[in-house]
This record gives sequence, C-alpha cells and structure tokens, in this order.
Amino acid sequence: MNLARQIEQYLPRQLLELVQNISRQAAKQGQRVYVVGGVVRDLLLGDPSLRSGPRFDLDLVVEGDAVKLAQQVAETSQAKLLAHHHFGTAKLRYEDFTLDLATARKETYARPGALPTVTPGTLKDDLVRRDFSINAMAISLAAKDYGELVDPHQGKNDLEHCLIRILHPGSFSDDATRMLRAVRYEQRLGFELETQTARLLKRDIPSLDTISGDRIRHELELIFKEKQPELVINRLGKLEVLPRINPFLKGDGWLAEKFDKARRLKKPTQLPSLYFCLLIYSFSERDLEQFLARLNISAKLSRAMRDTLRLKTSLPLLDNSSRKPSEIYYRLREYEPVAIQANALASESPTAQRHLQLFLTKLRYVRTALDGEELKRLGISAGPEMGQVLQILHKAKLDGEVRTRADEKKLALSLSLKLER
Ligand code: ATP
Ligand code: MG
Repeated sequence: MNLARQIEQYLPRQLLELVQNISRQAAKQGQRVYVVGGVVRDLLLGDPSLRSGPRFDLDLVVEGDAVKLAQQVAETSQAKLLAHHHFGTAKLRYEDFTLDLATARKETYARPGALPTVTPGTLKDDLVRRDFSINAMAISLAAKDYGELVDPHQGKNDLEHCLIRILHPGSFSDDATRMLRAVRYEQRLGFELETQTARLLKRDIPSLDTISGDRIRHELELIFKEKQPELVINRLGKLEVLPRINPFLKGDGWLAEKFDKARRLKKPTQLPSLYFCLLIYSFSERDLEQFLARLNISAKLSRAMRDTLRLKTSLPLLDNSSRKPSEIYYRLREYEPVAIQANALASESPTAQRHLQLFLTKLRYVRTALDGEELKRLGISAGPEMGQVLQILHKAKLDGEVRTRADEKKLALSLSLKLER
C-alpha cells in the first residue's frame, strides 16, 4: 500500500519538506529513513486530531547512523540538536515541531523488566521490538519506494478491526509498562485488547513488580494527559493492573465523576497533579506513603498529595456557614492549592466546597493596599509593631472591614496610636 498522498495531506508542509530533505541526505550516504510509530497509525486512521498537543512530534528510524545524520541536518537548518550517542538517537527541535531520529536497533532483555541491551539493526528488527502491531508500522521516505507502508505485523489489519495486539507472547513480561500503554491506546481509540493479548496481560500481571517506580509513574503521567483518563483508570482497575501497583488503587464511578468535574474547571491548571490527588483520595496516610515510595513521586507532588489527605480530615471545620473569610484563610493558607482544589471537588458538603472555592478564587490573592514603606511614612516603625499592623490590616481586608486605601490608613493610624500606649 502506498501512502504518499496521505503523508502530503497530513504533515505540515514545512515538516514534509524537511523530512524529504533528510531522506535525500541519508540516501547519499547509502542510508534509509522511515516514518514510524504513532504518526503512521494516526495517518491510517485518517484523523489528525488524534495527534494532540501544541507541537507535532514525528519519529524517524534510520537504517544507518541517526546521530550523524541529525548532526548534518542541524548544521544546515535552524534546529536545536540533542544527541544521545549511547542510544543512537537524536532530537531535532524546531519552532513548531520536533523530530526524533533513532538508529534502527535490535533489543534483547537480560531479564524481565530490565532496560534492554541495544545493538544496531534493520528496520524490521526495530519494528519487532515495539509494543503493539498498530504502533509497529513504518512508511518509507526513500525515492525509490516513497510512501510505501512497511507492516510486518499486520498492524493495518488490526487498526481496521480496532484491536490492540502485542507482537509476541513474552511482550508484557519483557516490559510490563506495555500493560498500561495497551489500555491507554485501547481507551483513547475505542479499541479492544485482542483475545490472546488480554489473556497474556492477565497471566503476566505479576511482572508489574519488576518495573521501576519512575517508569510506572511516567505511564500514569501519560494517562493523565489523555482526554478521558478515567476510562483508562477504570479499565486498569478491572484488569487488576491497578491493585498490583498498589492494593488500594481503584477506578470507580466516583473517580470518573471527579475527573470529569476537574476537567470542567474554568482554569484546570496543574490538571495531572489534581488527578493524582483525586486518585488517592480514599487512601489512609499509611497507604499514601507506600504509594509515594513505590512511584518515586517528586517532593512537590508528594506534598500536594499529603496535604490532600490532611485537609480532608479537617474539612468538618469548614462545614460551618458562620466561618469568617479570615478564619477560612488562616485555616487553608498552609495547603498546596491543588490539594485544596481536590478537596473542593471531592467534598460532599456544599458549605465546605464554597469555602474552599472562596479561598482559591479570592482570599489567597487578597493584599493590603498599604505596604511597609507607606506605614513608615505614617510613623509606624519597622519591626514587630509593623508586622502586627500589617497582619491586622490584612485580616480586616479579608473580612471586608476595610475596602479602600483611606480605610486602611485610618485603621493603621488608630492601631499605631493604640500600640504606642
Ligand atoms: P502517542 O504519542 O500518540 O501516544 P506514539 O506511538 O507516538 O503515540 P510514543 O510514546 O511517542 O507513542 O512512542 C513512540 C513509539 O515507540 C510507539 O509507537 C511504539 O512503537 C514505541 N514504544 C514506545 N514505548 C514502548 C514500549 N514500552 N515498548 C515497545 N515499544 C514502545
Ligand atoms: Mg509520540
């Protein structure tokens, strides 16, 4: 099958010209270049919107030396080059897109879950080490067969039948992150795990124990970039993948509803972190520590997740409609905003929710109009006295007792008189 026409339609013009140039340059040195991976899959599906994100990323495989080729290309174009000699890979960063060039390689696994040993190989070697048939296709860029689809594992057929299929029975035990990847693609594309693949996934669940925390976390981060991560999480729960990572992890209707709400927030900043905080909402503090250690979660995100549970236990204190804004502020200011947001989504109490939202949208931004310099001009000396005045002004502002600058000045002066006495 020839996909020349589809490539021309699908790739941005600039990118197309660039890869054609790269291929010509490679040919002069007797090397061949192919487009591989997700772009081939999405191009056959005919839906460019599947390639999400602001940048267009393209993976190329080089039968030859990818690093050398990338260096030559970088010299003659406006690209930023990032080379990994050890892996035989290079990244070329342009303004609107990124090209990943990889030397075609062969992989062998010393033991399940370990990183593979890599040696140079052919395109076919490179495709056979990949995760699923639909991700193991390539398109030739060489002049003599430009646009030809290379599909040794019947990926196109699986695409037509909406199936996620691994390439050999040892695939999941070689690399159990593929279980998470399989479900991510299944849910993104509305596909199904092919029968044997589903059976082998169940059989190999224990291999998840061989995967480092960093790799599992990375896969969760990728899941949280999907349009509907809750579909992936629920399915991973049903397949018993989640409980193998941590016995308390589950996907259910509650989580699905909260994820959906999280996405609908006006400013869903830090969305992946928010998903993480919701994911562990039903955990005890002990369960959480186990999860943080297993996934080697960063200090900042760990803090947000711990805060989430800490705040959850003190939510009853916010479930009281006579709380003053300043009380809400002092109670919440120590918590990470994303932990507050998680609780606002998860809490069952409308009053607590309202207070949490009030803090997030207003109270945390409240500042006094007067600063230290101005207070000095009013005759208040720097030091503890000024600190006290500023704090009282801030509290009065939070509670709406002062509004204007003039209000603040008046209050500051009366305070300084009192403090002098
Ligand atoms: P998308 O970016 O749309 O999720 P992609 O196919 O571009 O899809 P990447 O994560 O960028 O996904 O990976 C590029 C290619 O590398 C994949 O298509 C797949 O062939 C291969 N790949 C990635 N991870 C693995 C893995 N764990 N095992 C085997 N092959 C993998
Ligand atoms: Mg990709």
